[in-house]
Amino acid sequence: MKYVDEYRDSRIARSLAATIARAVEPDRDYCFMEFCGGHTHAISRYGIEDLLAANVRMIHGPGCPVCVLPIGRIDMAIALAKRAGVTLCVYGDLMRVPASQGTSLLRAKAAGADVRMVYSTLDAVRIAETEPQREVVFFAIGFETTTPPTALAIQLAIKKQLKNFSIFCNHVLTPAAIQNILESPDLRALDCVRIDGFIGPAHVSTVIGTEPYEFFAEEFEKPVVVAGFEPLDVMQAILMLVRQVNEGRHDVENQYIRAVTREGNVKAKAEVAEIFELRKSFEWRGLGIVPYSGLRLKRAYAAFDAEQRFALEDFAAPDNPACECGAILRGVKKPTDCKLFGTVCTPEMPIGSCMVSAEGACAAHWTYGRFRDHARRKAS
Ligand code: SF4
Repeated sequence: MKYVDEYRDSRIARSLAATIARAVEPDRDYCFMEFCGGHTHAISRYGIEDLLAANVRMIHGPGCPVCVLPIGRIDMAIALAKRAGVTLCVYGDLMRVPASQGTSLLRAKAAGADVRMVYSTLDAVRIAETEPQREVVFFAIGFETTTPPTALAIQLAIKKQLKNFSIFCNHVLTPAAIQNILESPDLRALDCVRIDGFIGPAHVSTVIGTEPYEFFAEEFEKPVVVAGFEPLDVMQAILMLVRQVNEGRHDVENQYIRAVTREGNVKAKAEVAEIFELRKSFEWRGLGIVPYSGLRLKRAYAAFDAEQRFALEDFAAPDNPACECGAILRGVKKPTDCKLFGTVCTPEMPIGSCMVSAEGACAAHWTYGRFRDHARRKAS
């Protein structure tokens, strides 16, 4: 398949691994965070860490939209779905995320709430159109990649004059999260996680471009390389980061030139800017309250804002104390550091969000057996 097979070529991967090995300076450590769950998935699936020198370490970041959604927001969605006359439309990977007191959207559905799995925002608009007697709410989550389709759904609802459609907005922003990680007390006070550079998100960057990373690359003196999701993309990005570290540079570089530009998708950004505005703060699982990291609907579109329409109040709920998702999302711990990993917590019976989502670090480690490699390395 074009643009896929050539980025999975094992011969080129071995050659790239040898080039990285030659570039790495033996007396220095390299710690790079892959922000995005898509990269975590690729690293686990293709065993990329096994191809790297021992002094090159990859740290998983918080770039999984399902993982970073705090339990309180899921509780709010469940409470909304239980209201008479409300239909809640959600993406499938949200259905099984554990909420408070052993609940989830799937369990709420089993108990009678009208929760429907959709594949796109347009599915939700279609339900609102065909069932005018229902109040149809789309549970909008995700980074900058999924925000334009939500904006499009609202434009479509306006065009169709739908009065029974709204969104529960949980869209969040990547650059604010990366900045928060760099300012994290875990990093500053404990100095337990060193980050020498970031692999920047692929899909998010197709929308926002590379320009938004320039501020913190300069401010925090950390290189960023935006990379695609295929294994050779990731390996080339690691090589570019190693070279930047060796040369003492902290530039924003673009490995994913086949899809990403500095400006990004100007039209999509304009659509989003027309409908959404920044929240002063938004809670992230693992990162806590992050200033200016989330979006809400502008006043002109308040009629489509489920939080206003149904007078929803913010609800804070604690994480399961045994679950290490928060620390994993901050890059402080690995999935194998969690005592529940693979014992009490598996994809079939997830305790935390990182084991539910396909992009979650725990699910990636479990699915591709990375925990076995970890155990083997520990034993040897
Ligand atoms: S293994 Fe399960 S309980 Fe442990 S951090 Fe991951 S999701 Fe949470």
